[in-house]
Amino acid sequence: MKRPTVLVLGGGYGGLSTVVNLQKKIGTDDMDIVLVNKNDYHYESTWLHEAAAGTLKPEDVRYDIKRVINENKVKFVKATVESIDVDNKKVGTDAGELTYDFLVIGLGFEGETFGIEGLDKYALSIADVNAARQIREHIEYQFATWSLEQEKDDSRLTIVVGGAGFTGIEFLGELGNRVPELCEEFDVPREKVRVICVEAAPMVLPGFDPKLVDYATSYLKSKGIEFSIGTPVVEATPEGVKIKTGEEKFEFIKAGTVVWAAGVRGNRLIEETSIESKRARVAVREDMRAPGYDDVFIVGDCAFLMNEEAGRPYPPTAQIAMQQGVQVAENIISLSKGGKTKKFVPDLKGTVCSLGDDDAIGNVFDGKLVTGKKASFLKKMIDNRALYMIGGPSLVVKKGKFDVL
Ligand code: FAD
Repeated sequence: MKRPTVLVLGGGYGGLSTVVNLQKKIGTDDMDIVLVNKNDYHYESTWLHEAAAGTLKPEDVRYDIKRVINENKVKFVKATVESIDVDNKKVGTDAGELTYDFLVIGLGFEGETFGIEGLDKYALSIADVNAARQIREHIEYQFATWSLEQEKDDSRLTIVVGGAGFTGIEFLGELGNRVPELCEEFDVPREKVRVICVEAAPMVLPGFDPKLVDYATSYLKSKGIEFSIGTPVVEATPEGVKIKTGEEKFEFIKAGTVVWAAGVRGNRLIEETSIESKRARVAVREDMRAPGYDDVFIVGDCAFLMNEEAGRPYPPTAQIAMQQGVQVAENIISLSKGGKTKKFVPDLKGTVCSLGDDDAIGNVFDGKLVTGKKASFLKKMIDNRALYMIGGPSLVVKKGKFDVL
């Protein structure tokens, strides 16, 4: 086989992990690796709730992609992917057309609004680093405007968070710490501010141990956060959200800020390809290849993978996206030498959900439950480990979280 071209779309956890693992294992003349990303930086999606609340600066959640790639082996193209033609092996971008022998699609997630009226238009979403910046600035604008206006509209100071899953709870945890700071900064009495979590399902944090869920909800309530559970949002308007509180019963929550954190889907570009997908997620084969396409791998949130043992899909996580990158790199190298691919086997290391900078809950080391400062410490170690896996010790020193315990 001639020297193959490996085209990797997306510089997120899955795409970058594929690239750094390829560059580690190949010689400079073995293959042409091209990485395409819409920005020249990678952002830690798992930290975006901190940037959205304003507890981390947007620049702290991102780093230059060129820091972690070896430019002797990888060509970086800053471009937005516009189309993917897997039948003719062509990818259209705003910087021109690219071709490949092997394609890796790692274009990440988008918010899922489930067709609820008005959400697309009036709710903000923690989608990427600029969307997070927009949420932070929107909340600050509402606080500043309340302080300045003569006839005060207290609903400016109401923040509705849609979704009590992992992202919603992590964002609420940050708000629990940030709201007192905002009150101080903008001369707003704390009792004027409402933060309300609205969830359609009858529970908070599905999949977490009930003891951890109790811990998280009591902790967040102690910070003044309200919960409205089993009350789906049915409409969003410029003034707030309408929720269903019972059979034919509805309530309107007037709110200056609505953040939708209740679901993700894969990147819409997937739906425009001839690869079969559901909510833009591809049910990949066991070696992470797309069904029907031997030269196309899918990593991260665009891939759908069943956990046969548990009888439910693996959740879309950075942890799994990075592990997939390792296996996909190995499989591409093997195919390029005429070998076979191997099955991707996730190695789940547990889940830790932060409740702000100083508290967390987690299920780690084969079912051990952790809470409080210990869990928060673990969360920071997990964040640092993700940096280490992509950029080694120098990236941990530059971007790591060291304010532990
Ligand atoms: P991403 O990391 O999202 O990367 C996609 C990349 O593709 C981005 O760089 C983007 O700019 C680029 N891109 C998108 N479209 C285009 C285009 N058209 N052209 C060019 N480039 C494009 N997971 C965990 O394991 N642990 C956690 O604690 C955790 N916390 C989370 C907290 C929050 C607030 C959120 C939102 C998610 C969290 N997740 C967590 C989930 C995790 O972030 C995702 O599963 C992970 O980011 C998926 O990785 P990915 O490589 O598929 O996509």
